[in-house]
This record gives sequence, structure tokens and C-alpha cells, in this order.
Amino acid sequence: MSSPQKQSPREDLRLLVKLQDLDLMIREASVQQEKNLGFKIEGVSRLQEARKELARSIEPRLLKSYERLQRRYERAVVPVYRGVCLGCFMTVPIAHHQAIKSHKTVRVCENCGRILCWLGD
Ligand SMILES: [Zn+2]
Repeated sequence: MSSPQKQSPREDLRLLVKLQDLDLMIREASVQQEKNLGFKIEGVSRLQEARKELARSIEPRLLKSYERLQRRYERAVVPVYRGVCLGCFMTVPIAHHQAIKSHKTVRVCENCGRILCWLGD
């Protein structure tokens, strides 16, 4: 097993967005499976396998806070658009814009606590 390497927040955030995609896909697939819409069981376990592998390369502390958020919200990582958090629609302080834009550090919304990524102006 390879130990997770230290990587930049930018890379962590990119992986986290991917992880969230997989989580949403797994959720969707499980619902389809329950409703018997012909989604194959192997499909779900393959998604889960991919999820596990991806999770391994994410910084453990970040992964933990993501998973904690995910129990509260459907989406733990949300975009900031025109200075507004698209999770709770509160304005993100201008002082934080540059940090979120450049992904130098991982920032969370002060209001809802979701992890922020920059969508555009
Ligand atoms: Zn928010």
C-alpha cells in the first residue's frame, strides 16, 4: 500500500471534487438499484472500489472534514460564484476570494461550513 503523498491544496481540492462526483454517483446508483431500474450490483461495487482508491490519495484530515460535511449536506464541496457561496447563498468575504481562487489553502464557508472552490466571477 502506498502512503499518501503530501500535495498542494489545489491538487487535494481537485481530488475532493472528483470524490464528491463518485459519491453522488454511488448514491444515484444505489437508488436505481433499489428501485430495480436495472443498475447492476457490480456497477455499485465498482464505483465504491474507485472511491476507495481515490480517497486514499486525499489528505486524511481534509477527507475527514469532507465526510463529516457530507453527512449534513448532499454536496460538501460547493462553488463560489460572483462572491457567493452556492451552498447557502451567503456572500463570501472579499478577503478570502484570492485564496479560494488560487486554491493556495482549502477554505470553508464561514456560514455553512462547506468546502469552497472557485467557479468564476
Ligand atoms: Zn455557505
